[in-house]
Amino acid sequence: MNLKIGVIKGDGIGPEIVTEAMKVLDKVAGVYGHTCDYTQLLMGGASIDVHGVPLTDETIAEAKACDAVLMGSIGGDAKTSPWYKLEPSKRPEAGLLKIRKALNLFANLRPAVLYEELKGACPLKEEITEGGFDMMIMRELTGGLYFGERKTEEIDGVMTAKDSLTYNEEEIRRIAKRGFDIAMKRRKKVTSVDKANVLDSSRLWRKVVEEVAKDYPEVAVENMLVDNCAMQLVKDPKQFDVILTENMFGDILSDEASMVTGSIGMLASASLNETKFGLYEPSGGSAPDIAGKGIANPIATILSAAMMLRFSFDLDKEADAIEAAVAKVLKDGYRTIDIMSEGKTQIGTEEMGDLISENIR
Ligand code: NAD
Repeated sequence: MNLKIGVIKGDGIGPEIVTEAMKVLDKVAGVYGHTCDYTQLLMGGASIDVHGVPLTDETIAEAKACDAVLMGSIGGDAKTSPWYKLEPSKRPEAGLLKIRKALNLFANLRPAVLYEELKGACPLKEEITEGGFDMMIMRELTGGLYFGERKTEEIDGVMTAKDSLTYNEEEIRRIAKRGFDIAMKRRKKVTSVDKANVLDSSRLWRKVVEEVAKDYPEVAVENMLVDNCAMQLVKDPKQFDVILTENMFGDILSDEASMVTGSIGMLASASLNETKFGLYEPSGGSAPDIAGKGIANPIATILSAAMMLRFSFDLDKEADAIEAAVAKVLKDGYRTIDIMSEGKTQIGTEEMGDLISENIR
């Protein structure tokens, strides 16, 4: 099979971690008789430097011509980078919002898995994490507060800012269906997270999720308020299978879940539309504080590449091979600095990519 993959290396640690993911993809392709045909795409700060904007229409067209896109991360240090002197719509992050909308990537999947070998990096007490945990955060990605109308104006001499949060029932239904479909392949439990005691958009969310749930009688559903969910994630993360939620709540909860797993450098993510197309990227940002030092953890990006093989190309065996190689390298005691613990061997970004590659079977 020829895999036509768009590659956005991005900013900060992006190029370092994507290079390692491509190394692993090439190895898997070699072992299983596929070829990878990469198209390099510019987005974020890297695109601003060349085109003056974070994402051009030509790049969107090129991305659409690929079967899937693998991305590092975009953005820089907001205090020092010249990109942040631009108006908000021209900054690196605007590219991210634009590509999600242009490719209709409404479903964001973020697995949060506590690996047995990384229990030491988990900040929670051992009795809470005993036996590990494995949840999938399903976040709506193209609606809600981040895409609503916003305005800053002076009203009666007082600066006033407004952001609006809108969802229609169709937007909620399509993400809910995706969430239930994924739950059917997992432990068949959906926790729908909202703020229905306050927000109208959440009350509609809850109503539509309950309607969709009727088509999935095997799936156990519960509603949870977002503030309670934030607490439950640290109190008892094992209770969760699929967490289904709207854009902003999902943004915050998935970062919280990432800390509970021990490192943001471990968390993969996939953003899907209604076809097989997907954008695959680590959950973390461009980490300008460690960019260029060769110490970033490439595992989240490598696991994102595994998700790409699974969801966009239906190559489950190949995805399994990557996940098994990651588990083996961790079991052998190799760690990047962010997941380092006593008695383990500290290695850099490139060595981690080499070792995972060597362990592909
Ligand atoms: P961040 O995720 O980049 O960094 C937070 C902390 O986690 C830092 O200490 C960083 O060193 C560490 N970290 C992140 N990824 C790591 C990895 N792979 N290995 C080891 N450590 C890692 O978040 P931030 O500092 O809030 O944001 C930095 C920039 O990234 C900003 O410009 C922000 O807008 C951007 N950002 C981009 C995306 C994206 O591209 N999807 C997502 C979030 C943030």
